[in-house]
Amino acid sequence: MTQKVALVTGAARGIGLATTKLFIEEGWKVAMIDRDGDELAVAAKDLDQAQAFVFDVSIPEQVDQMVAEVTAAFGRIDAVVNNAGVADFGPIAETDFARWRRVMETNLDGVFLVSQATTPALKETKGALVNIASISGLRASTLRVAYGTSKAAVIQLTKQQAAELGEHGIRANCVCPGPVRTKLAMAVHSPEIIAAYHDAIPLNRYGSEREIAEVIVFLCSDRASYVTGQVVAADGGFDSTGVGLP
Ligand code: NAD
Repeated sequence: MTQKVALVTGAARGIGLATTKLFIEEGWKVAMIDRDGDELAVAAKDLDQAQAFVFDVSIPEQVDQMVAEVTAAFGRIDAVVNNAGVADFGPIAETDFARWRRVMETNLDGVFLVSQATTPALKETKGALVNIASISGLRASTLRVAYGTSKAAVIQLTKQQAAELGEHGIRANCVCPGPVRTKLAMAVHSPEIIAAYHDAIPLNRYGSEREIAEVIVFLCSDRASYVTGQVVAADGGFDSTGVGLP
């Protein structure tokens, strides 16, 4: 049987690295993409079914080069996980344009660029796109004007992709993680925010990278062959409560 190939962005650590490892456990090969070459090299070192590619998903020329190199190395792409992201917790008044653009460039432009550039390869395999948004894209808060807006846009972009690419057999779904103790989250979650999340989440805890990866890999797999255009919150029940984001 042909071994499937997943392209995972932001694969050097956190949710992207956990997703890479789960794909490999399930028999896939993985193209690991990250702009942090040092961390990516360490992460990829012992993963013999993975290959590392150092690229920035927010730069169009780099994305084109990345897709060319991945296609040359693996010959096919069956799933694309748009996971690379940056966090920013700031109110409107403190979010100058440079700060706004820094978030949009990776969180939104990067998803658009990588999806667009991999679409020809996904048409060949009738493959799957999974975009990583956030519960911050489902709910507004006083702190997340750029981050929350970028993630809400990713949710809508996913629906556009599902509507447009379905006729080519490509499925597009979106995962909205709740809080996970990664480097990204721990840089912005104060002790007060952590305590508030524990109270607000019905399961009363943060999620793990692996719990998010399980949903991502399922949506990429043939087990989800009739699932497209969906927004799946993996958030311990947070979104079901109506409680505001801390
Ligand atoms: P992380 O910081 O641990 O990992 C993100 C990775 O993306 C890093 O290795 C980083 O170098 C890479 N990256 C960032 N910008 C890039 C770019 N322009 N090009 C290439 N690589 C880039 O973060 P994480 O928590 O694992 O986050 C993964 C995704 O999950 C993000 O999209 C994030 O917004 C989303 N998310 C995380 C949480 C959480 O609580 N951790 C909650 C909701 C959503």
